[in-house]
Amino acid sequence: MLTSAAVKQKAKEFGADLVGIAPISRYEGAPKQHDPRYIFPAAQSVIVLAFRIARGALRGIEEGTLYTTYPTMGYAALNQVYAPMTLWNLTNWLEDQGYETVPMINSNGGEAVNPVTGNFRRGWSRPVRPGNPYPDVLVHFRLAAYLAGLGEIGWSKVFLTPEFGPRQRFVLLLTDAELEPDPIYEGKICDRCMQCVRHCAGKALSATESVKLHIAGHDIEWSKLDPLACEKGIQGGCEGCRNPFEGEYPRKYGYGRALEGAAGCIRACMVHLEERGKLTRKFKNKFRTRPAWDDIDHSQPPELTEEVIREYGESGRIEEYNAYEKYTREDNYGTAKKPAAQEKHNPLID
Ligand code: SF4
Repeated sequence: MLTSAAVKQKAKEFGADLVGIAPISRYEGAPKQHDPRYIFPAAQSVIVLAFRIARGALRGIEEGTLYTTYPTMGYAALNQVYAPMTLWNLTNWLEDQGYETVPMINSNGGEAVNPVTGNFRRGWSRPVRPGNPYPDVLVHFRLAAYLAGLGEIGWSKVFLTPEFGPRQRFVLLLTDAELEPDPIYEGKICDRCMQCVRHCAGKALSATESVKLHIAGHDIEWSKLDPLACEKGIQGGCEGCRNPFEGEYPRKYGYGRALEGAAGCIRACMVHLEERGKLTRKFKNKFRTRPAWDDIDHSQPPELTEEVIREYGESGRIEEYNAYEKYTREDNYGTAKKPAAQEKHNPLID
C-alpha cells in the first residue's frame, strides 16, 4: 500500500523542499468555481509541494544593483521550470504505482476567474454539463498549502511556513491515492507586525481591513489586498515605486515582472521573522545589515543619451520619443503627468 511517507520521500528526492497532504474532504463547502473535486471527482488526496525561493535571489534587489535574479530564479524559473520538473517526475511515479494524478502548476490559469482580481469572468466560458462550474476551475494554491498543513497565510496574504517564512512557491497534485493526511498547522508565525503593510511600495495591503474565511473547521484571516495595486507595484509601475529603470527598457531587455522585489510581503516579512527567530532554517549572517533604501530620486529627468534616442527611433516609436523629449525639456518631470504615449501598452514589447 502506498504510504504518505513514501510519497514525501520521493517528492523530496525529485526536488521539493516541503510536502504536505490534505484529504480532498477538506474542500467540503468550497465555492464551486474553486473546488478541485470538479477537476478530478475521484481524487482522494491533494499533495502540495513547496519550493524555496533562495534568500540570495532577493539580494540584488535588496541592494538595488541586480534586478534579473529575483524575477527569474526566484519567480518564473521556479514556477515554470524547476517545480514542473519535480511535478512531472512525481506524477509519473504515482502513475507507476497505479494512481491517476493531476499535476497542477501555478500558472495563474483559469479562464473563468480573473487570476489577478479573483473575480468571476461572466461570459468567458460555459459549463459543459448542468451543475458543473465554468471552465476553468481555479484552485487556490495558498489555501491548498494551508489545508495540507504546510503553514499559514500571513496578514500579507503570502503563505508562511515555519521553515522558510514567506520564501516559497507551490505546485499541487490531485490523486486518487488515499494517503494519510497532515494535520492543519496550528502554530502562529505571523504576529501582525505590519511590516508587510509598511514596506509595500504599491500600498496594496490594508492594515485594518481583512478577508475572513472559515475553512476545514478553522477561521483564517488576512489583509484586504488591492490586487491591481499589487500587480502594478510588483512591476515597478506605481507612484514612488522602487524601480530604478526608465521607460520600457527593463521590460524589453528581460527584467520582466517583479521589479519591486516583494519589498513588504516577502523581504520585510522575512527580515522580521528571522530577527524574531521564528524560522527553523537559519543563516550564518543577517539578511539586512543596514536600513533598506526606500526611495529613488525621480525628481530629475532621465538621461537622454544617444542610445536612448536611437532606441526610440529604431523601434518606430519616434512620436512617443518626441513627446517624451518635449516633456522632459519642459522640465516638468516629476510634477506633471507623463504624456499618454509613455504609458501606452506596446504589444511589440510586452
Ligand atoms: S510582515 Fe508581519 S504582519 Fe506581515 S505577514 Fe509577515 S509577520 Fe505577518
